[in-house]
Amino acid sequence: MSSSPPSLPGSSPAADASLLAERVRTAMRDVPDFPKPGILFKDITPVLADPVLFRDVIEHWVTRWGPEGIDVVTGVESRGFIFAAPLAFRLGCAFLPVRKPGKLPYRTASVEYALEYGTDRLEAHEDALVAGARVLIVDDVLATGGTAHATAQLVERLGGRVAGAVFLLELGFLRGAQQLTGIPVDVLVTA
Ligand code: AMP
Repeated sequence: MSSSPPSLPGSSPAADASLLAERVRTAMRDVPDFPKPGILFKDITPVLADPVLFRDVIEHWVTRWGPEGIDVVTGVESRGFIFAAPLAFRLGCAFLPVRKPGKLPYRTASVEYALEYGTDRLEAHEDALVAGARVLIVDDVLATGGTAHATAQLVERLGGRVAGAVFLLELGFLRGAQQLTGIPVDVLVTA
């Protein structure tokens, strides 16, 4: 039996960006009042359920970020991991998990950030980056920008430099990109 992975149809390097955006927009599912009343949750699982679309999204980012000399791709727990890990693999980069408090076993650096009510914290291992590493932040949804901003602060605290921030979808009306001053923000779909 062959050990090579199954080939997918339409194996062009990367689909045209606007066509790809439209395919993602069509696939994503809105779930009203989740996880609480008043929130319109953007469900990415239909994108993951379509292996050609999932592949084309990752390859689109490989084309965009491949020439940028990225050393480390970081994903934010937990949906960010889903996109960051295959992108890191394809770019030949390290993958750095940024996690919720208390999940990482070794010594950590952390950044606290404001939520609508109260605060939350993100953590990474304190030895995760070499000084000056170029880091690409990846998450599924950019909403207020608080999570991505905290991740950028954490990367800098660890000695890295943020090369960019990549999102499948941006909730444009929340203007989250304004939190990421000086960071190139790469969004596939704006809702
Ligand atoms: P924010 O810090 O407000 O930019 O929120 C971004 C984080 O919350 C990301 O990790 C998203 O996965 C998640 N998130 C925020 N709003 C939504 C939404 N409407 N649908 C799905 N995920 C969301």
